Amino acid sequence: MTTLADPVPGGRPGDVERATALSGELSGRGVHGVVLAYVDTAGIGRVKAVPTAKLASAAAWGVGMSPVFDTFLADDSIVSTDVLGSPDGDLRLYPDLDQLVALAGQPGWAWAPVDRITQDGERHPACSRTFLRRIVADAAERHGITFRAAVEIEWAVGRGPTADGEFVPAVSGPAYGAVRQVELSDYTADLLAACAAQGVDVEQLHPEYAAGQFEISVGALDPVAAADRSVLVRQTVRAVAQRHGLVVSFAPAVSAQGVGNGGHIHLSGWRDGANLHSGGAGRYGMTAEAESFAAGILTHLPALTAVTAPSPASHLRLKPSQWAGVFTTWGHETREAAVRVVTGTAGLRDQAANLEVKPVDLAANPYLALGCLIAAGLDGVTSSAPLPEEITGDPARLGEAVRRLPTSLAESVEEFREDERLRTALGPVLADAVTAVRLGEIAAVAGLDDERIAAAYRWKY
Ligand code: GLU
Ligand code: MG
Repeated sequence: MTTLADPVPGGRPGDVERATALSGELSGRGVHGVVLAYVDTAGIGRVKAVPTAKLASAAAWGVGMSPVFDTFLADDSIVSTDVLGSPDGDLRLYPDLDQLVALAGQPGWAWAPVDRITQDGERHPACSRTFLRRIVADAAERHGITFRAAVEIEWAVGRGPTADGEFVPAVSGPAYGAVRQVELSDYTADLLAACAAQGVDVEQLHPEYAAGQFEISVGALDPVAAADRSVLVRQTVRAVAQRHGLVVSFAPAVSAQGVGNGGHIHLSGWRDGANLHSGGAGRYGMTAEAESFAAGILTHLPALTAVTAPSPASHLRLKPSQWAGVFTTWGHETREAAVRVVTGTAGLRDQAANLEVKPVDLAANPYLALGCLIAAGLDGVTSSAPLPEEITGDPARLGEAVRRLPTSLAESVEEFREDERLRTALGPVLADAVTAVRLGEIAAVAGLDDERIAAAYRWKY
């Protein structure tokens, strides 16, 4: 379980001793440096690194980094809000030692996600990991509900790097095809080995639908650890690929046409050790709370897409009949509904039942996406929101009877700006950062056609 306590200057009790022991152990294993990782508002992974010998100092006093990255765009240009985006100020990055691992795909390196606090030891209001820890703590305190989550990861594997940044698929075999599995046999075996060495519990790995596409799914964890894991797995997928002379893209749309890369989120709520999505009197065994949780997500979904599908490239992926879930409906095991109710196999349902949210991609900051989804679901629980009728089959054939999600980033930002519940959950600093960064991305691609938009984000995430 992730500790929900904030970092403090000097270190939380035991942190410095633990970091000292870890740094000795890592040095003994040939680890020279520790990557300190977080994800910015635009969904870009940003890092600093310290020599392994400085880990205890980082655990005690953090590592400095400017807050300006909270309003960075994917192309590294900078926008601003009332309080963010200036060259002033500094923050301290505190590694979470519970999540520190030696990177199997990058010998010589270890990795840890960070929380960011101010130089005065206060929470940084734009730290997305701190936001998610707070949402999870509040859910436990106010509602008595804990969560388990997992982020699915799809990516395209290319030959490369190519001189012009084009994507050249590294495989030619069919979707889910045995040919494709053999074509990248060594890479995928090394990837599984690296995940296992890092303690990542992989559930499945398979060749996916689009050109060069693969997918990995991992076991559920508490939401903060699940978000950390999604960042770590992507770092690993990329690093192992590089050792095989391959390049990878997690972009929502590697090219403008065809099926994109999703980052579907699986989420389940639990009370007193019991799964709220199983064994209840509602549809498919959902409890009343689970139905209302799903209803809350559906209600807020048009605004949520500004967080879960945050890139101009996200809207190249969000198309009907491509399993990206672009209609605000739910269905039982329906892969075209935005929310798929997963019941799992008879005999495992009390453990396995969950909701899968599909209009999520890997341009999303996973901490913001999970925190906002939980806040939206809990809004439904608080108001005992009724869950509408389910759909079956492809909602695209239902016409006006189903609501389509926003078809552009501009439209989803408008929805987000109107959504007081989400803005309140995020707090004004983070909510304004989300708005400013999304508007900045929209301006950055003004006048570009779809292929150029895909190219602009292809190698960023
Ligand atoms: N690639 C699809 C997407 O963009 C998802 C396919 C699947 O359901 O796994 O979301
Ligand atoms: Mg998939």
